[in-house]
Parts: sequence; C-alpha cells; structure tokens
Amino acid sequence: MKTTVTYEELLEELMQIRLQLKEANETIEAIRIGEVDALIQQSAKGHELLTIKKANQTYRLFIEKMKEGAVTLNEDGIILYSNSQFASMVNLPLTKIIGFPMTNFIPKEVKDFFKIIIIKGWKSDSKGEILIKNKNNEMIPFLLSATSLELDEGPALSIIFTDLTAQKAQQRLLQIKNEQLEIARQKADKMNEELEEIVKERTKDLFLSREYFKFLADNTPVMIWTTDADGKLDYVNRQWHEYTGFDVEQSRTKQNELIHPDDLENSSAAWKKAMKDKKKYEQKVRFKRISDGIFRWHFAHAIPFQDEQGNVTAWFGTSIDINDQIMELERKDEFITVASHELKTPLTSLSGYIQLLQSQTNLPHNLKMYVSKAHDSATKLQHLINDLLDFSKIKAGKLKFNMDIFDLSDFINSCIDNCKYIYSSHTINAELEKGIMIRGNAERLEQVVMNLVSNAVKYSRENKEIIIRTEKDNAFAIVSVIDFGIGMSPSDQTKIFERFYRVEEKKNRIPGLGMGLYISSEIIKEHNGEITVKSKLNEGSVFSFSLPLANSM
Ligand code: ADP
Repeated sequence: MKTTVTYEELLEELMQIRLQLKEANETIEAIRIGEVDALIQQSAKGHELLTIKKANQTYRLFIEKMKEGAVTLNEDGIILYSNSQFASMVNLPLTKIIGFPMTNFIPKEVKDFFKIIIIKGWKSDSKGEILIKNKNNEMIPFLLSATSLELDEGPALSIIFTDLTAQKAQQRLLQIKNEQLEIARQKADKMNEELEEIVKERTKDLFLSREYFKFLADNTPVMIWTTDADGKLDYVNRQWHEYTGFDVEQSRTKQNELIHPDDLENSSAAWKKAMKDKKKYEQKVRFKRISDGIFRWHFAHAIPFQDEQGNVTAWFGTSIDINDQIMELERKDEFITVASHELKTPLTSLSGYIQLLQSQTNLPHNLKMYVSKAHDSATKLQHLINDLLDFSKIKAGKLKFNMDIFDLSDFINSCIDNCKYIYSSHTINAELEKGIMIRGNAERLEQVVMNLVSNAVKYSRENKEIIIRTEKDNAFAIVSVIDFGIGMSPSDQTKIFERFYRVEEKKNRIPGLGMGLYISSEIIKEHNGEITVKSKLNEGSVFSFSLPLANSM
C-alpha cells in the first residue's frame, strides 16, 4: 500500500473535497428553498434515494421568506433545519448552524430558561421571551415558540424566533404615550374641578346679585322695568305690577290699555329715538292706575346699559308717579293767571295817577323825586305783570302775533340804542352782518333781545363787555348775545328754558322769577326758530336764537 502522498495528490484531494462541499451546500440550499424534493446519494451500500418527507415546497418557501427565525431540533437538541432568517440573526452561515447543538446559539445567562422552554415544548406548545445577541453584538429580545412535531425520522421540535425589538419599542412608546395621557387627564381633571368651583361661585354670585337686584327693585317706591337690547320688556318690579295690574307679558301686549291714548304716539317716538341714538329716554306719560282706573302722569326714564364695545345689551327704566306735582304746578299756573289779571287793573290806574302827578309842573322838588321813584317802581311792576300775563297766554296757547318783514341789523341797532340807555353800566358791541331780512314780530323779538341783554348784564357784574352778533346760517339768521360773566354748568344749561327754573347760587343771589328765558323760548318757537345756550362756569355764556330768513318762507 502506498503510504506517501505527493503534494499534487493532496491538492487533487483538496479540490475534490471543496467540490463536494460546494455540491453539498448547493443541495442543502436547493432543498431549503424547495427546488429539490429528492436526491440520490452514493454510499457504501450503493445508490440510495433520499426523499424529503413532508417537504411541501410552498411551506418551505413560506418559512424561508418569513421574518421570524425558524429551526427544527431533534431529541438531542441538534439543529436539523434552520431558515436563513435565523442564520442572519446569529450571523453565521447555515453550514455552521445545521447539525450543531441549539444551545451553542443561546447566551449563557439565558440557557437555563431556554432549556425550560424546550422541555415544556416537547410536551405541549410553550412560549417564552429571551435575549439573544445579534450580529452587532446587541442583546435583542425574542419571543420563542416551541412546538413538537412527529417526523418520519422521529420526533422533532420546531422553534420560531420572533424579534420583539419593534414590538418592545412600540410598547415603550405606547407606555410613554399612556403616561403622557394620564398626566394630561389628571391636569384636565384638575382644571375641570377648578372650573366647576368657579362656575359654582359665579352661579352663587349671580344668584345673590339677582336676589339683591330683585330685593332692591321690589322695595323701592318707584316702578322699575328692564328691556333686552331690542327694547323688548323682560322685567317689571312689584310696584309696577301692583300699580298697573299687568305682568311683563301683559305690559308688552296691552300698551293701548296701559298708556293714555294721547301719549301713545309721543312716548313710542321718544322710545324709538332713544334706542336709535343709544341715549337716555325721558318722557312724561300717563299710565293707568289699576286701583281706580285713572290715568296718572309719570316721569318715565330709561338708560341704555352698554358693554365694552359700546353695544347696548339692556335698558333700565323707572317710572315715577308725578301726577300730584303736575296738578300742583297747574294750580300754581292757574293762580298766576288769575293774580296777573287781578293785578293788571289796579296797576293801570296806579300808573295813570303817577302820570297825572308827573304832568303837574308846580310840584315841589322833593315830591317830584318821590313821584319819579313811584314811576320807576310801577314800571318794574308792569314788566313783572307783563311777564306773568305772557306766561298765562302761553299756557292758554294764546301767544299769537302779527309778522312783518324787516332788516335784522336795523332792528338790532335800535335794540342796542335802548339797551345803552337802560344798561349804561355795560358796553354793548355790535358785530352785525348786513342785509339779512327776517320775518317776525319786532315787538316780541325786542322783548327777547332785551331779556337776553338784561340777563347778560345781571349775570356779568365783573366783565362789562357784551357782544351782539348777527349772521346767516343756511336758511336762518342767527342772533347771539355774548357775555363774559358767571356762566353756568352743563346740567343747568339743559333746564334754564323751563318755567321758573333758576340756577341755585347761594352766595351773590341775584333776584328774578325764572320766567324770562321761558317766555323768550316760546316767542322764538312761535317764529319757527330755536333758542340755545353755550356756557362755561366763570367764563361766560352765549345765548343764540335762530329765525327763518324772510326769503326762505
Ligand atoms: P331770571 O333771570 O329772572 O331768573 P331767566 O329765565 O331769564 O330768569 O333765567 C333763568 C336762569 O338762567 C337765571 O336764574 C340764571 O340762573 C340763568 N341765566 C340766564 N342768563 C344767564 C347768563 N347770561 N349768565 C348766567 N346765567 C344766566
């Protein structure tokens, strides 16, 4: 027998072994992917046909393509089969896996646990999670599912390795999200509780303020009502209900029964205007008192309640029964009418006798002086009584007069001549626009100008300049009497044209009846004009009245 082997022979043998190995690998690969179901092997016993039992090509392909690692072990724990996924998990070629003990691929630390899964798997399906090192030497969590199989060659155990990295990451993410959700839920719960507390407080506050409002409204001797932003009545207090006999609904729908028919139109027009202008509503109106069915005068007043943007959100109204005061005023007016007429006759004869005395040329000097003083006093009295008579005429609607067309500046100049004579203490300057023709009653208009100048003198003792100005303003002539005297507050300015109204001036009280401006304004109204005042306390006043131009009528 030849014992020495030459180098060439050895090389030849190595080539043969390499070829066989290549063939074997190709065969294994072909079997794995199902290209080959059987093969013939040459052995000592001659040619032998090896078939792959139950090697259904579909399943083999399926196992090869799946993401999970799959191995089959025999009873000794030797790997009979591995898919390429498992090979790539442990980063070894299949030739280094198949035929080797499974425990070779299990880290030391988890070997015991692995064995338990295997032992259980031989009895029935078993599962467990273990960590296995991957190709990058990282410990990767895997789920192992072991199931025993009965092959022709004997019992086998199939193990599926499912990589849990993504699932774990997903679980961690889910856990984080859950934790965040829990924190958010707790915060929301807390906010909810706080909100509930605030709502409870506010509801209590609201309830209390509503109760306070109701208590106040029901225990005030005034009728109180409110409307919504559109002016629709939505509340009336106890007094209203008791006085009118109407609740909110009835008060809204039975206006015709509630308000005197003669006042309906005016009050509704005033209400519409107040709503349009968002300004306070003030109106004298007669409401029917349910207890005796009598219409009584009321002063109705309402103010708009506005939000920060200036939108009206509600109206708050009050109505006060002023019937007794109105009756009182009417009695006073009646008394003035009667008294002025009664005074007129004796004053006329008194003036007559004074004139008679004045015409006596042989009167001693001191008597002449007394007669002259009596004449002055009688003239003053005459003015007062004239005012009272005018007032009575106005009340009776009898302030009527004839109108003529005349030149305004001529007219004012003649008034100034008179004033200069009567009010010599003050300087009256004229600023007159020429050529303004007006239509009016010169006597009555002179009464107005004299009254305004008389007031300017009375209420400006320090500054003695008075200006009378005339000018045109569209279809009107404007006459202004300007002084630099004590002036008046804005609230007084709105009231001085009312009869008997006088500004309360404690010190330095100036005598007067509070009728001059009332009569003047009525005279100007009768001329289809308007009288107004602009004034500042301690700076002076400008009283102006307008008259339609003669050619505009
Ligand atoms: P009287 O002057 O007789 O009181 P009037 O009706 O003429 O009555 O005037 C009413 C009130 O208006 C006066 O009491 C006075 O307080 C105020 N008033 C009128 N004219 C002036 C003025 N030129 N300056 C300041 N206050 C005035």
